[in-house]
Amino acid sequence: MHDFQYKKSELYAEKVPVRKIAEEFGTPLYIYSHQTLVRHYTAFKNAFNGYPHIICFALKANSNLSILKLLAKEGCGADVVSGGELFLAIKAGVSAKKIVYAGVGKTGDEIRYALKSGILMFNIESTDELKAINKIAGESGIKAPIAFRVNPNINASTHPYISTGLKKHKFGIPMEHAIEHYKLARRMPHIDIMGIHCHIGSQITKISPFVEALKKILLLAKKLKYNDINIKYLDIGGGLGITYSNEVSPDPEDIAKEIIPLVRENNFTLILEPGRSIAGNAGILVTKVLYLKNSHKKEFVIVDAGMNDLIRPSLYEAYHHILPVKKNKRTEILADIVGPICESGDFIARERKLNAPAHRDLLAIMSAGAYGFSMSSNYNSRLRPAEILVKGSEYFIIRERETYNDLIRGEKIPGFLK
Ligand SMILES: *Cc1c(COP(=O)(O)O)cnc(C)c1O
Repeated sequence: MHDFQYKKSELYAEKVPVRKIAEEFGTPLYIYSHQTLVRHYTAFKNAFNGYPHIICFALKANSNLSILKLLAKEGCGADVVSGGELFLAIKAGVSAKKIVYAGVGKTGDEIRYALKSGILMFNIESTDELKAINKIAGESGIKAPIAFRVNPNINASTHPYISTGLKKHKFGIPMEHAIEHYKLARRMPHIDIMGIHCHIGSQITKISPFVEALKKILLLAKKLKYNDINIKYLDIGGGLGITYSNEVSPDPEDIAKEIIPLVRENNFTLILEPGRSIAGNAGILVTKVLYLKNSHKKEFVIVDAGMNDLIRPSLYEAYHHILPVKKNKRTEILADIVGPICESGDFIARERKLNAPAHRDLLAIMSAGAYGFSMSSNYNSRLRPAEILVKGSEYFIIRERETYNDLIRGEKIPGFLK
């Protein structure tokens, strides 16, 4: 569900015509709905209401400071995967005690920063990392709170690039080695064992992989208890899918209904790390038609948003609905919708049916709120788009469009070239 709907033939973001915002701020332009973001977060909160839990928004889906602030205001925590994301979470006012930190390659500086910030726990992905964290915690004279990210070897049946829970993936430690890792951690003087973590992939549209993963984690928790290692947090990661095309994903409530009975009699705190399911359908990318081109019997609609603005179609062959900002009755065509970048892989959609757009028409690329701006780049020295937050009939610029000077910020010319 989202709040980008037509009124008559005009697409609205909540109560504001998308065209009005695009005319004011130009294109390409990301627009987010405050109401959708809050509703999606609240759906998680309410679903797990009956059991101790923390919802940690995965910053990598969308790390705009205003969006983080609005989620933090609602009580949301953060799942971070870098020092930069930790910085943003703290800056946005997320309580450190609601921050978990995953990622296979945490650097010494990042570990020190997280320790100093007092995060809830590190989700550790290897023995080497455990040793590094123990050492750094010792130097700082504190204990590092940790969980191991275990790899439950579950097929999340999603795109190979966003599937993470199989043995062949670089993430986590194999389930069958988990006990030894925990025993090793217990012997370390500067480590505090807090929990178990897993994250099996993204855009998962079934409940069963989550349930399967939790069952495996619970079994591990039991074995750990038998070994006198008591954990408090069960972090079951993110990965809940959304509707891009016609997929039907479970609601947080559907997941909660299956999961809570499994943990009911235990005294754990559940951690969830949703990213896409909170932000994905809360944002659109508005783009303008620049040119129409017909070559070799193929139609191209050339728009002003490219793979640098939204890389998902190029990277994962991901599908995004494309809607006219103003509906028209022109004849339907079959076209590739492509960006201005000098790469054949620069497309938003291929072989897509749409009413023949005209020069300067605005199109809305739907479901672009997650892994949209956060994966954008300056490739082809393109300026990254502005971001707008709509709240009812008001709208706010939450990131300025970049300028040419932003492209050379930080660059230095050596003396001999001056
Ligand atoms: C990416 C990621 C998430 C969020 O995944 P979504 O599919 O966006 O919900 C959560 N946890 C970890 C460790 C991740 O890497």
